[in-house]
Amino acid sequence: MVASYRLTASLLLANHVPQSAAAGGWVHESEICTAKTGWFSHCEKPALDECQYCGKPFCEEHRYLIEGLDAVCNNKRCVAKHEDLARHAEYRARVRQRNGAGLCGVEDCGPHPVFECSLCEGLFCDKHVAERRYPYREGRVMVERPASVCDWCWQRRKLWRH
Ligand SMILES: [Zn+2]
Ligand SMILES: [Zn+2]
Ligand SMILES: [Zn+2]
Ligand SMILES: [Zn+2]
Repeated sequence: MVASYRLTASLLLANHVPQSAAAGGWVHESEICTAKTGWFSHCEKPALDECQYCGKPFCEEHRYLIEGLDAVCNNKRCVAKHEDLARHAEYRARVRQRNGAGLCGVEDCGPHPVFECSLCEGLFCDKHVAERRYPYREGRVMVERPASVCDWCWQRRKLWRH
């Protein structure tokens, strides 16, 4: 499936590098927008692209953005994810910078981080990473598995689980 080459709907894969767009765009000419326009109806206009988060084809009217390799529909949840991903990238860069200086990823915390967050892959002290049951998607079901997760990633689980 084409959409899997893009940023996927998971913080775990937030650094996944999208494949360069194949010539000719992402969608089949026959694809139509599936954005909801009512309880039992959807848009049905010709689709421009597929949303990288929900995987649904969307039209001009239901586009949030198409930019480079990013394609996001205007579904609230997808827009929220897109905005959060930008913040997440900033956070990761900051943690990396602090780790490079031998410090825990949390601002104003001290040296010797020894635990890795399994989501952002930053290093933290034992106070700032905890073993938690984090929801992962497995096919169509969500399963909770123990994982080392920093506070930042933990706060984002509701947005990213699904
Ligand atoms: Zn979407
Ligand atoms: Zn539409
Ligand atoms: Zn983290
Ligand atoms: Zn710390």
